[in-house]
Amino acid sequence: MAIRLVLVWILALFAIPVFAADVDGFRVWTDPEKTRAVLDLDSRTEYQLFTLDNPPRVVIDLPKSSLDHALKFTAEHAGVIDGVRHGAPDKDTLRIVLDLESQSEIKSFLLDPTGGYGYRLVIDLFQKNGQNSQPRLKQISAMQEQNRDVVVAIDAGHGGEDPGATGKNRTREKDVVLAIAKELKKTIDAQPGMTAVLTRTGDYYIPLRDRFEKARKYRADLFVSIHADAFKNRNVSGSSVFVLSSKGASSEFARRLAASENSSDLVGGVTLSDKDDMLASVLLDLSQSATMEASHAVADSVFGSLRTLGKTHKNDVEHANFMVLKSPDVPSLLVETAFISNPSEEQRLKDPAWQRRTARAITDGIQNYFFMSPPPGTWIASNRQPVRHQVVRGDTLGEIASRYRVSLYSLRRVNQLKTDNIRVGAELVIPTT
Ligand SMILES: [Zn+2]
Repeated sequence: MAIRLVLVWILALFAIPVFAADVDGFRVWTDPEKTRAVLDLDSRTEYQLFTLDNPPRVVIDLPKSSLDHALKFTAEHAGVIDGVRHGAPDKDTLRIVLDLESQSEIKSFLLDPTGGYGYRLVIDLFQKNGQNSQPRLKQISAMQEQNRDVVVAIDAGHGGEDPGATGKNRTREKDVVLAIAKELKKTIDAQPGMTAVLTRTGDYYIPLRDRFEKARKYRADLFVSIHADAFKNRNVSGSSVFVLSSKGASSEFARRLAASENSSDLVGGVTLSDKDDMLASVLLDLSQSATMEASHAVADSVFGSLRTLGKTHKNDVEHANFMVLKSPDVPSLLVETAFISNPSEEQRLKDPAWQRRTARAITDGIQNYFFMSPPPGTWIASNRQPVRHQVVRGDTLGEIASRYRVSLYSLRRVNQLKTDNIRVGAELVIPTT
């Protein structure tokens, strides 16, 4: 029963008067590495945290604080936390006790208000019994083989504490993009020669840089981040495809969007310091133009495929300074699948049939790209199929040629076209090298 370890005794910057804090809320998230508990506070406060054995638990004492409701959390996200209760060891202290399933390594810190959240006390619990026996991914061992699968890392945006954008009917971006990401993984895995991995599989937050670092760890051939857009004007609609801009955002709209997508790391508790900016610029410089070129090619292909589904927001692939796209060596794109702020698109985002169609269109675009330029040593390199393009309204032969980076001459020749007139719905074979 002895106090095992006094971990933290944090005083606020102006520690002399002890600040009283009300506890307004309590949330728990679990990701594959840790369980995160968050206490919402109405002000900055000092706290004392220690652990006890038998049964294992974490005790958090908040001096001069109060709590006027029961703390609750969703069992689904509970992770290592079995229960939560509170009491008062003396009349001036609020004590919150987390009952744990097993002894855990603990990190705690205070966060200042940001992104719609107020002051927070974050308690991260890491499982001790050195498990983490993550199943080896088939593609990593397959790397050694000939005819390996191409690996696509799919990143469902936001998660956990960071809900992303929210629709008029309270649909949360983090939920619908996870559903679409899972659907996309299913569709990609069903293609011969292709394997997909997810950066997140549940409702938890991953810092932006960790997302592309995961893709690099999996030796992904491609990174696709899935989002749903939002805008003040609820009439704005359509899907968009973004690649990283070499010099910041290319339009005011893209700049605004980049600011809101990038701010999620502030919500997640990690601040992008200027060191990160420098690293990012170094990475960008090093990021061989080959990666950028490949990102553009695959983005063009995915954009063309999404156009067959319906309205796109703009007429072309856009550029923005998204942190999550800054992988130096993995071609990366970000798909804003629809506007969650538009009520009819919000409806669609939740519709499993629409999610499937969108996943299918993204997969087609990705697959066509790999058929056009297969990485050496892959199954697709030795078994690729001819790429076909279905003509949609507004297509011209010249645009199709530039989209697939082929010459107008070869496009005409392969399809035995006498004129440049093309019929909506017609299928063109795209010549590959
Ligand atoms: Zn987003």
